[in-house]
Amino acid sequence: MKFILTFFTLCCFSFTWGQTSPKIYEIIDNISEDELRNKVQTLVDFGTRNTFSDTLSNTRGIGAARRWIKSEFETISNSCDNCLEVFYQKDFVTKEGNSRVPHDAWVVNVVAVQKGTKYPNRYIIMSGDIDSRASDTMDFTTDAPGANDNATGMAGTLEAARVLSQYKFENSIVYVGLSGEEQGLFGGKGLAQYAKNKDWDIIGVLNNDMIGNIEGVDGIIDNRTFRIFSEPTPPNETEKQRRLRRFYGGEVDGISRQLARYIHKTTKTYLPEMNPMMVYRLDRFGRGGHHRPFNDLGFAGIRIMEAHENYTQQHQDIREENGIKYGDVIEHVNFGYTKKLTAVNAINLASLAWAPPAPKTVAIGGIVEASVKLKWDKVDGATGYKIYWRDTTSPTWDHSRTVGDISEFTLEGIVIDNYFFGVSAIGENNFESVVTFPNQIMR
Ligand SMILES: [Zn+2]
Repeated sequence: MKFILTFFTLCCFSFTWGQTSPKIYEIIDNISEDELRNKVQTLVDFGTRNTFSDTLSNTRGIGAARRWIKSEFETISNSCDNCLEVFYQKDFVTKEGNSRVPHDAWVVNVVAVQKGTKYPNRYIIMSGDIDSRASDTMDFTTDAPGANDNATGMAGTLEAARVLSQYKFENSIVYVGLSGEEQGLFGGKGLAQYAKNKDWDIIGVLNNDMIGNIEGVDGIIDNRTFRIFSEPTPPNETEKQRRLRRFYGGEVDGISRQLARYIHKTTKTYLPEMNPMMVYRLDRFGRGGHHRPFNDLGFAGIRIMEAHENYTQQHQDIREENGIKYGDVIEHVNFGYTKKLTAVNAINLASLAWAPPAPKTVAIGGIVEASVKLKWDKVDGATGYKIYWRDTTSPTWDHSRTVGDISEFTLEGIVIDNYFFGVSAIGENNFESVVTFPNQIMR
């Protein structure tokens, strides 16, 4: 008996023994479906949250909605010893030059920053949207509940803040409600530029847009699958970088894609019942979302979203036509599913916020040789590294080898031509960074 007790004591306190962290399971368990439902209901009750709607009323319109979101963040902060820095970030948009702007207005984002203890200038960001729209995007008075699009993403962001504020992290976490999404991604543009001006070192943006619908227009009902959209390579890369890709690879290995793979892996590890679907494109066909303005400035960013959309329930005035009920009303939101996707966000925010930075430089060599050589810059705070490789046709990092606190390694007998490679950093607490794809060549 004594032996068994000792064994259990060891097993349950030593994260390095296993593959998983008890804290991550605790975070999953603390995400509350009731909290999410109440938050979406409150947002829906503002009638419309169109970015150009009333700002003075305390019960209706975008002004009331953003003030409520700010007060929610402040309440959370009050119960974590003021761990959140809460503020408005805003930009003025004008009717002139913007075909979908009905009148000049401030586009106001609500931002809450939980500062990291070790790397305060490194930020992992979770976003949802404050705003909603009716059938006509210029119509800022008609009811537009936007329960799924995108009160779910906003509620998920608030809920992640409530749960994660109970922990301390090495990197900073930003929880943000963005505005002006429906008329031109104005809020995302504003915050991305703000972050760039402030020199934020952004680990990545997890943009949540519609995380509550499980019954698709395609007739499929599925509460397990969700999509992670990521673009292949940054749009602001140089011509030289583009040219080098032809010879050294990287067509499907940009920074946003690595973030998508990280989320896929964390989800499969801690929520194996879920089915994360990596979609190899910026966003849905011809449509957009708030991660894009961050991508435009060279930051990693992905979109997390339901797998099965229902178009009669998005961007539609509430009405009944030919027996079809139109409108984005709360009755269509599946909160069990919203809870799962909120958990997906929370565990990835936590894992990244507890992890050391990824290696900045990874060099690779092995042309006409039987082995691959990898060399990387050591990372402050890392105690080991993980070398990954995969078949060139595989979407996920399928093979790996953990190495100690060293800065180069040779994978004997692995031919460089037949795989893609990458390196991540592992911290003392066993949390791991995103994978860095080689960005230097060794001859
Ligand atoms: Zn929308």
